[in-house]
Amino acid sequence: MLEKRILVTGGAGFIGSHLCDRLVKAGHDVICADNLFTGRKRNIQHLMDEHNFEFQRHDVTFPLYVEVDQVYHLACPASPVHYQYNPVQTVKTAVHGSINMLGLAKRINARILQASTSEVYGDPEIHPQKEDYWGRVNPIGPRSCYDEGKRCAETLFFDYHRQYQTDIKVIRIFNTYGPNMHPQDGRVVSNFIWQALHNEDITIYGDGTQTRSFCYVDDLLDGMQAMMNNSRDDFIGPVNLGNPGEFEIGELAELTLKLIPNSTSKIIYKPLPQDDPTQRQPDISLAKSELNWEPKVALEDGLKETINYFNGLISTNL
Ligand code: NAD
Ligand code: UDP
Ligand code: UDP
Repeated sequence: MLEKRILVTGGAGFIGSHLCDRLVKAGHDVICADNLFTGRKRNIQHLMDEHNFEFQRHDVTFPLYVEVDQVYHLACPASPVHYQYNPVQTVKTAVHGSINMLGLAKRINARILQASTSEVYGDPEIHPQKEDYWGRVNPIGPRSCYDEGKRCAETLFFDYHRQYQTDIKVIRIFNTYGPNMHPQDGRVVSNFIWQALHNEDITIYGDGTQTRSFCYVDDLLDGMQAMMNNSRDDFIGPVNLGNPGEFEIGELAELTLKLIPNSTSKIIYKPLPQDDPTQRQPDISLAKSELNWEPKVALEDGLKETINYFNGLISTNL
């Protein structure tokens, strides 16, 4: 593959840091732009001395002028706890941030990939979710800043494409987990592992029968890069990327405890947050046929890797 100049927004976050790592190793010239709201320098520290890596502390709600060939647009808090902390800033990041990055891509004729989300389907009536399903989203609830922000971002991507022929690709990511998740991120996988390793109560929200499909980060990145480098100009997405294996949250708690056998944690039940989707599972037939992609890592194996990572954080006091 020819070496490229690549901008990764949100590159110090969980998924972005793995992406920067891969792109730098492949010899690309990488700029990581991140305001460190939920990302951490720790995730990219090992890249700082590489000649082909550059970190810019930058908030994407402000204009950014760089010259690159590709933009992976990931900047946005993703965990409900964090995106609800300052919901107005979340909408600004999703909408103004996308306008700025689309303006950038338009000016320099770069290809831009949007990290959209399964949340655009809301609490779905269709199961599993296919890309042509328009979703069931509350426009005024506590999750709306993220869900509607990401929906508007998709609208912007498609309008820049129709109006200015901007070279776009849109992926809809389903729940992804793995090393480099922030231990206090608040998402279910990191919460359960962190609680089990500290012998704290495992907090199931609701009765634990709601489902999610968990994709290991390496698998997700294979799909994301396949989409970015897909040569068909008429295939712009949106395309679902996720693991179709569907688990109840209660099952995830049991599995986490099975993989951390020394833990003395007990499962406790807390109220289900408002508008928490009851079911989520991707239909990935489009990704399979167009990108020849499907996930390979079983949940148990991915959880073991993530547990090792969190154990490492504890032993090095980070
Ligand atoms: P993350 O919170 O670890 O990473 C997001 C990064 O964006 C962080 O480094 C944060 O500091 C940065 N950021 C936030 N606001 C910014 C701003 N205004 N300017 C610049 N940087 C900003 O989350 P993640 O899980 O790595 O998610 C990355 C992307 O993937 C997000 O766009 C998210 O919506 C999307 N996504 C993730 C999942 C998942 O399960 N992890 C699922 C669907 C979609
Ligand atoms: N923009 C940016 N970097 C660039 C080019 C544009 O951040 O290299 C921002 C610019 O600030 C603008 C936004 O992208 O507000 C949208 O740009 P566009 O050209 O679509 O719209 P306009 O400049 O006409 O508002
Ligand atoms: N959840 C839970 N305990 C936690 C954190 C989350 O039971 O400590 C539940 C949450 O209510 C949701 C599911 O796990 O039903 C996934 O939550 P997460 O925040 O990881 O992602 P999202 O809701 O955005 O899919």
